[in-house]
Amino acid sequence: MTAADTALSLLRTLTDAPAAGTWSAPGRVNLIGEHTDYNDGFVFPFAIEHRTHLALAPRDDRRIRVVSSFDPTPVEVELSALSELFPARRDEIIEWARYPLGVAWALLESARETGTAVVGVDLAIASDVPVGAGLSSSAAIEGATAVALDEVWGLGLDRVALARVGRRAENDAVGAPTGIMDQMASMLGEPDAGVFLDCRSLDTEIVHLGFSDAGLDLLVMDTRVTHAHSTGGYGERRAACERGAEIMGVRALRDLAVTDLPRAKTLMDDVTFRRVRHVVTENQRVLDAVASLRAQGPRSIGGLLDASHVSMRDDFEISVPELDLAVDTARNAGAIGARMTGGGFGGAAIALVAHELVPHVTAVVERAFAEAGYAAPHVFTVRPSSGAARDAARATAS
Ligand code: ADP
Ligand code: MG
Repeated sequence: MTAADTALSLLRTLTDAPAAGTWSAPGRVNLIGEHTDYNDGFVFPFAIEHRTHLALAPRDDRRIRVVSSFDPTPVEVELSALSELFPARRDEIIEWARYPLGVAWALLESARETGTAVVGVDLAIASDVPVGAGLSSSAAIEGATAVALDEVWGLGLDRVALARVGRRAENDAVGAPTGIMDQMASMLGEPDAGVFLDCRSLDTEIVHLGFSDAGLDLLVMDTRVTHAHSTGGYGERRAACERGAEIMGVRALRDLAVTDLPRAKTLMDDVTFRRVRHVVTENQRVLDAVASLRAQGPRSIGGLLDASHVSMRDDFEISVPELDLAVDTARNAGAIGARMTGGGFGGAAIALVAHELVPHVTAVVERAFAEAGYAAPHVFTVRPSSGAARDAARATAS
């Protein structure tokens, strides 16, 4: 059964009313540009084929009910109560339901400005995006909810506005202090393309990746080491970046160039300097990766992926031994380039690999993990895919 069908049959547990449709939004992989988003910098993610699907039926009253394949117990709230729940009393809502209900809340906050009247809804959610693997199942659930409610409520928000809604839900309704990269990738992704995003202006360019034409696959190596944004490491890195920008007298590290680094080194302590150096060089690597892809195709970006990993490992210090092992092993087994991806302290690494080498690289990485005594990694390929959308009508014909 596809996730869309699962969502539809879950909806039947809530209501006999016919579904208005199913909508879905993808997870994402960040090709390059790590910890640059909250420094107003550049990122270059792409949407993947793993998606979160949502089936929706309108109600006669003004309640919102949501159920997920995660958790068969529906969560039910009056639409008018959402503004009392979020953000102040969010702890009263079970965590997973804060994502869809938070999106409903953030959308209604914008709808209030336009005076739109909205109906109650029943929502059922099912996903094939792995959770906590650095593939942003959170942006997928937010994106699916945002496109569905935007359409059914007739709000007419554009893609960037819907990405902002998702981010607001995640920041304020869930309480995770993330940037907007994941939501933008999930909203704007296109097949075989990356979303080159300027996190200050939110300007985007869709950049053709050409992986399949070049005979390449993007391998995800999920270490299964869990990451948590709430742990101190993430906050400490953000604080170091703010400190570095302040010392240099700029609004954000985005405003520094690689040529500013020698001066930065004389002005700050070694740890702060290395944090700054990661962000400044990583921003440049994103620009270089986009330029290189356009000029020479995807085989040319391997060195930039490798350099990104070294910078995160040595300067930003957010890698873990499992990620280093995955990256080093994949490269030694013939990958064109590899790096950890996501916030760090666990999660997944990616490798750009010639199609015919995928089974070999996978086997060698699995063996290296077994020999090191680590839990078996989950290794699979992802394809650059399309962003959030209403599913084709046939999916809703039940
Ligand atoms: P990631 O985005 O890297 O997968 P996050 O911690 O940001 O990890 O988001 C994962 C959380 O999102 C889950 O713990 C759950 O609360 C929520 N979530 C994701 N997908 C679903 C789903 N299909 N149903 C219910 N909740 C989901
Ligand atoms: Mg997430």
